[in-house]
Amino acid sequence: MPSPPIVIAHRGASAYLPEHTLEAKALAHAMGADFIEQDLVLSRDDEIMVIHDVYLETVTNVASRFPGRNREDGHYYAIDFDWAELRQLDAHQRMDPETGRAVYPDRHPPEGATFRLHRLGDELELIQELNRAKGKRVGIYPEIKNPAFHRREGRDISKRVLDVLNAYGYSGKNDRCYLQCFDPAELKRIRSHYHSRLKLVQLLPENPLWEPGFDPSTLGKIVSEIAQYADGIGPPLTLSDTRADEDGYSHWISLTDLAHDRGLVVHPYTFKKEMLPEGANLVAFTENFLKRTGVDGFFTDYPDLGVRSVKRAGASPNAPIRN
Ligand code: CA
Repeated sequence: MPSPPIVIAHRGASAYLPEHTLEAKALAHAMGADFIEQDLVLSRDDEIMVIHDVYLETVTNVASRFPGRNREDGHYYAIDFDWAELRQLDAHQRMDPETGRAVYPDRHPPEGATFRLHRLGDELELIQELNRAKGKRVGIYPEIKNPAFHRREGRDISKRVLDVLNAYGYSGKNDRCYLQCFDPAELKRIRSHYHSRLKLVQLLPENPLWEPGFDPSTLGKIVSEIAQYADGIGPPLTLSDTRADEDGYSHWISLTDLAHDRGLVVHPYTFKKEMLPEGANLVAFTENFLKRTGVDGFFTDYPDLGVRSVKRAGASPNAPIRN
């Protein structure tokens, strides 16, 4: 029996509480997520912050708390602040900088309860303590954000992240940790320069593969190259969704199979209600997706519904359906 797909809580239980807050992580743990995601950037004093962007203003009150601390491009960068300052910020749901409104109007409102940013170590302690208290083995799924930006700032974020992960007991193939990044050069460096034995996941971007002129026959070659240094791929879910062949790109159906043939796991992103038409059922959609594609896990903003989808997919006697 193959193991059931893993549910990866995308930025925590981010559909219910502000993304990347400790509260959202604790809720994801309680909801039964198998892994919890951490997006990572550096502060000025080399602390590893858990936050999605290298800048702060879309998810915190930095502009009102520290006015004038933005750069010329208007952004307030985490790397220009010390942890002692960052910890004073109020964190909230993601805001659209264009409209000034919440990106997801039905989610936790930006006003009201106060949330805080935190560091990678804070979150690892929380998850490990919850694991101990509940007798669980919930894993972690850290992402190194924008290593090129950090390098331009004179920093080596991967070195710091590997050190902290190691200090908390995550260093080997069998540890409950997948380390992810969009930048292939950085993942190769982590493998060959730092000799990390962690499971590495190459994220695949939303756009380039879909652009006109992309030759689908090269997909096998791309996956083979990734298999040289990584253990898995994180594609946008459309890329591993068989419905792609409606556009005539039937070669792309087999991305998951191509990856499996080369020993890679496949963890697509990101399942959320908001991507479906009004009234559509996320559990039914996810259940069908899992059966159709045979992926090994998936990122979701709704870990509770993800767990339910996996149970339903496992309860059904049908083998994976291939369109
Ligand atoms: Ca991420």
